[in-house]
Amino acid sequence: MCKVCQRRPEVAGDPYGRCESCAKAGRRAYQFRLRAGGSELQVVAGELSPRALNKAAGQALLACSTRPSVRPHLLGSSCELVMAGRRLETIRAAPALSSRLEQVLEALRTAARRTDASW
Ligand SMILES: [Zn+2]
Repeated sequence: MCKVCQRRPEVAGDPYGRCESCAKAGRRAYQFRLRAGGSELQVVAGELSPRALNKAAGQALLACSTRPSVRPHLLGSSCELVMAGRRLETIRAAPALSSRLEQVLEALRTAARRTDASW
């Protein structure tokens, strides 16, 4: 199954385990792990460093006004950014975060303001 859209079969040999359609669109999914720090959520690990997240999606996250959607393939307190090239398509969150979707977006925005090379 395609690791990005979770809908179509993945094509053999794609380095990111994508279907043909997602590979063609240059679509990628980047996972991040969140932890509750007090009443807020914080990103504590991710497939992109804070600096790379800022570069890839910093502006898009600030402009983003849609709530993250809940997707059952995400486990624990993880979330995922789906980018198509330089465009932010969607933000997805694990079911455990379904009551805190606004905080997920806020945590990603905060993380994207950092300039560190690692978490
Ligand atoms: Zn796909």
